[in-house]
Amino acid sequence: MKLMDKSELIKNHEITALDNLEMFCKNIEKKNDIYNAFLEVDKNSALECAEDIDSRIKNGEKVGKLAGIVVGVKSNINVADFHITAASKTLENYLGSYDATVIKRIKKEDGIIIGMTNMDEFAAGSSTETSYFGHTENPAAMGRIPGGSSGGSAVAVASEMCDLSIGSDTGGSIRNPASHCGVMGFKPTYGLVSRQGLLDLAMSFDQIGPFSKDSGGSALMLDVIGGYDETECTSMDWNLPSFVNSLERTDSLKGMKLGIVKQFFDVSDDKIVNIIEEIIDKMSEMGAELVELSFDYIDLCLPTYYLINYVEFFSATRKYDGRKYGYRIEDVCGEEVLRRIHMGSYISQKEFSGKYYKKALQARSLIKKEVTKLLNGVDAIVGPTVPKLPHKIGTSLEPMDMYSYDVLTVIANLAGIPAASTPVGDVGGVPVGLQIQAKAKDDTKILDIIATLE
Ligand code: GLN
Repeated sequence: MKLMDKSELIKNHEITALDNLEMFCKNIEKKNDIYNAFLEVDKNSALECAEDIDSRIKNGEKVGKLAGIVVGVKSNINVADFHITAASKTLENYLGSYDATVIKRIKKEDGIIIGMTNMDEFAAGSSTETSYFGHTENPAAMGRIPGGSSGGSAVAVASEMCDLSIGSDTGGSIRNPASHCGVMGFKPTYGLVSRQGLLDLAMSFDQIGPFSKDSGGSALMLDVIGGYDETECTSMDWNLPSFVNSLERTDSLKGMKLGIVKQFFDVSDDKIVNIIEEIIDKMSEMGAELVELSFDYIDLCLPTYYLINYVEFFSATRKYDGRKYGYRIEDVCGEEVLRRIHMGSYISQKEFSGKYYKKALQARSLIKKEVTKLLNGVDAIVGPTVPKLPHKIGTSLEPMDMYSYDVLTVIANLAGIPAASTPVGDVGGVPVGLQIQAKAKDDTKILDIIATLE
């Protein structure tokens, strides 16, 4: 059932919020031990919330846009009275004392928060294997990684443990697990969704966004969480469209110009390329005009992204000194987080800043300029989300091999543009996602394309 249809049925009292919630609770009971998507579930407060919504609907009172819809939240977003651990021992016992802006908005619109999802420690990863609380399984391909870092949020939606979930995307952490798990994941334009209450990985890249099974679900969540927040300095003050209202479901892509970047295919696995080429052919049959593009800076993207990530992450972690709360991060964190802290600390030293950090910032400007140029002549760029298939859980990878999962997703974060992944096929059962990227503030165009493909 489409999420928007379900939402209508709940509001019309044809399905109760309670029935909807109980269905998910059953699935969580049955499946969470196997998949480890949720780190914490609060059934009681969810039940209270559902009963309250049902009684208001019964009395003919107005309810919010997300009434009765069950939502999972990545463990790096503050929710009062849940454990906000970022999947690290550092914050193992940290209980959220307030709601992040996105959570306030979800609650105000009567979304039911069911629990906190698993992730890579501090969102620094692409596999959800580095969580202090154990890895998450990929329900579509047992024994393989679900992708990351928001693996738990992707799996929770993919395996019917909630209607919608939210995650954070710094270099692909929403789109990558969406692609590997066969669901839709959306990283909005930088500044569209407030980051207030999100534990930073790299603040100049981080964006919160939704996971859903269809475009209507993501549109609805974006309508709720998007929009200016005066308490957050990177939040954009602009005339945000209603994503749900502007969702155009047609059966044609006439008038759409879609950019195909040669290099995105050169770096990708042949089996993935075949699936993406097939869907692009279909899009052309549906009326889209294909425009061949070339992006010469692809090799610059990962080094630029990771250098900036290290420096910003190092600075963000200085508050985890074990004094006010938690443990001192360096004493308890995993290998990847420690690597980033050490690298960030080294690069941040004054004598090296000209050599690395300033160069990375220059490279970022250049990449942004080039990506803007590419997008100028087209409505969107389409291609693979992730260049390779997910590895078997526990395979030992060199850092560069892990980072190479991100080569196609970091571009949108470097440029601040919106990008989504939507499932378009599978390789022997392992899902493959199509990435759609557009100009800053053209988020609705991406949703329209996905709605049309549906
Ligand atoms: N895999 C990338 C990294 O480790 C992206 C992570 C993210 O988007 N949170 O930095």
